[in-house]
Amino acid sequence: MAELNNVFLLVGVAVLYFTALAALLRARRRIGLGAFFCALGVMHFLETYLASTIYVPLPYGIVASPGSTVLFTGKLMMLLLLYLREDAVVVRQPIYGLLFGNVLLFALAFVLRHHTLVALTGDRAANFGFLNEMGALMVWGTAILFFDCIIIILLYERSRAWLGNHVWARIFLCGVVVLSFDQVAFYAGLRMLTGAGWPVLIGGWIAKMGAVALYSGMAAIYLKYFEWQFANRKAIRILDVFDTLTYRERYEDLLARTGCDALTGALDRHSLESYGRRAVEAAAAAGRPLAFLLIDIDHFKAFNDRFGHAAGDKMLKRITTEIMGAARLSDFTYRFGGEEFVVIAEGLAGHEAIALGERIRRAIAAAPAGDTQWKVTASIGIACCAKDASGYDKLFEIADKRLYEAKAAGRNTVVGERAPQESPVRLVKG
Ligand code: GH3
Ligand code: MG
Ligand code: MG
Repeated sequence: MAELNNVFLLVGVAVLYFTALAALLRARRRIGLGAFFCALGVMHFLETYLASTIYVPLPYGIVASPGSTVLFTGKLMMLLLLYLREDAVVVRQPIYGLLFGNVLLFALAFVLRHHTLVALTGDRAANFGFLNEMGALMVWGTAILFFDCIIIILLYERSRAWLGNHVWARIFLCGVVVLSFDQVAFYAGLRMLTGAGWPVLIGGWIAKMGAVALYSGMAAIYLKYFEWQFANRKAIRILDVFDTLTYRERYEDLLARTGCDALTGALDRHSLESYGRRAVEAAAAAGRPLAFLLIDIDHFKAFNDRFGHAAGDKMLKRITTEIMGAARLSDFTYRFGGEEFVVIAEGLAGHEAIALGERIRRAIAAAPAGDTQWKVTASIGIACCAKDASGYDKLFEIADKRLYEAKAAGRNTVVGERAPQESPVRLVKG
């Protein structure tokens, strides 16, 4: 009975943990990723502390730690979700933050332990118990997390070839493999430091696998219902006391708007000529990859002819929101011409660039048609720096040529070139 009670408590904590962190991740376009990172960091602290101090009995003689089972597994799943919606460069931020923070915490705890103590009150003795737990295990756990994250990202990309678009299966597979590795590695450290027995290894592994199944299900639901369809609220601000304090942000906003297209709010052609060109030149000089996506709405003249220019303008705004929502926070969206857009995505090449194009194509095709009932689609041509060209004009020319190919292939299509070691498929048709 007590064992079953423990299972319910663990499931309850997992659901609460996932819901709260997923909500913060979902709100990243309104309040930024800092809130998500901070919450993750606080939970990380609780998790490592629990993992070294609290173990609970579960059915079948399994012994597991809520810290490892629920919080650690959950954190890895949240980092995978972060990668899925942003990219590896963004995942790097919390990983380095946690690693650095834990080493610092270890050092501070070491220094603090040299204090001479005095009791606070008669019945509250001074106690180093808590600080004593801030040990090497925390640093060891975070060091493994570093490798966990690299493995989970590589494996997720690999699993596309085996499992296609079955997101739940891919997340589950990644969780099983990485957490099995993690369990063995973490246990090695735990055994060395605390002498924990084999049941902790086996029991912890079984409990983690259960947690992986639960989290994969929640992650798949989150991605299906809370990300793809509604990921387009870039321009909305949250209204709270901080909003009234952001004078600097408003000033910068005002400055930035001078380079914005009045109808859609995307960056305008003038900005593309200056910032876009500079971004390409800087990436080429530094040898960093960069993807250049040229997007043209299909049959837009016919849409205007049928529903009028006012409806056309409204649709252009909606499409811009879809493009910005599907792109990463770090990508730049420009309105190049009437119904032509350019997205410049630094750090992307090969199949990653095509995946971004696909995400944008899908988002536009899935955009609500309003009262027109017209299914708007777009064709996209992609060129990558420096694989295709390293100059801005040449890159544009190649993207334009591929856009033309996408139109010729029946529209609602993405055309780009994968890296040579990848499969030679060039056309991704919707
Ligand atoms: P496709 O690209 O699939 O070949 O066909 P299309 O009909 O989209 O062809 P094209 O790209 O040549 O036409 C662009 C049309 O976009 C022409 C014009 O009616 C419309 N357009 C351009 N700028 C605006 C704008 O600011 N507002 C509205 N409502 N329509 C615009
Ligand atoms: Mg056009
Ligand atoms: Mg067009």
